[in-house]
Amino acid sequence: MKFDYVSKRTLLTVCLAFGITLFMFAFAGNRQSDMTAVFSSPADSKVIVIDPGHGGFDSGAVSPSGIREDELNLKVALKLEKYLSEHNATVILTRETNESLASRKSEDMRKRVQIIRDSNPDIVVSIHMNKFPQSQYFGAQTFYMEGSEEGKRLAQCIQTKLLENLIEGNKRQIKAASNLLILKAGSAPAVIVECGFLSNPREESLLITDEYQDKAAWSIFCGILEYFANEETFYWDRIQTPYTNLADKPLNSINCYNYQKV
Ligand SMILES: [Zn+2]
Repeated sequence: MKFDYVSKRTLLTVCLAFGITLFMFAFAGNRQSDMTAVFSSPADSKVIVIDPGHGGFDSGAVSPSGIREDELNLKVALKLEKYLSEHNATVILTRETNESLASRKSEDMRKRVQIIRDSNPDIVVSIHMNKFPQSQYFGAQTFYMEGSEEGKRLAQCIQTKLLENLIEGNKRQIKAASNLLILKAGSAPAVIVECGFLSNPREESLLITDEYQDKAAWSIFCGILEYFANEETFYWDRIQTPYTNLADKPLNSINCYNYQKV
């Protein structure tokens, strides 16, 4: 009789497990179709040039411990490309490897400008890391072309997310610049994002990690989405994100910073 008891119990357990599995499959399938059906992104069909600064012979800033800016720029840029591509944006990178575009700086910059002009993009985002003689300065900062209202708005959208998501205590605000070639390369709104200071040991230790690079890319991505979303009234049902579920919220109420990676 004991055998019978065990067998019934086992059978019940198996049935229950099977039922739960079926339910989960049905639920997952339903969610998937919901997502496909309603998902739409402000970045959909936008053309975006991402410019990972420096490369090759031109390391950009080098930290006291020898970390090269150009390599970090590319890592953040590739992560940003991934997020934007997932939202059906057309992304053009000025470089996809750690090589420069030419053997001389002037020619390298000329080629970047040409890529921007040929792409006729909606926006241009150049990725950099900062450095200063004094090590206490830290924090990400976004620059835009002086006099460009749309560039300023894009910079503000991105800076807001950088301040929310990255290193605590950063008080930096967006800044206009008039002498940076990438910002005036084309007619599209353009920004230079300085993701942090390699001369600050604490920030450097963050910038070299995959997680912090991902947060930087994610912040820029969220800023770009807000920029495009505010061009028109946009309601967003679902966002596919590695972070918390941001479903069923109007875009303007989405706080990309309030995340936990899953
Ligand atoms: Zn740089």
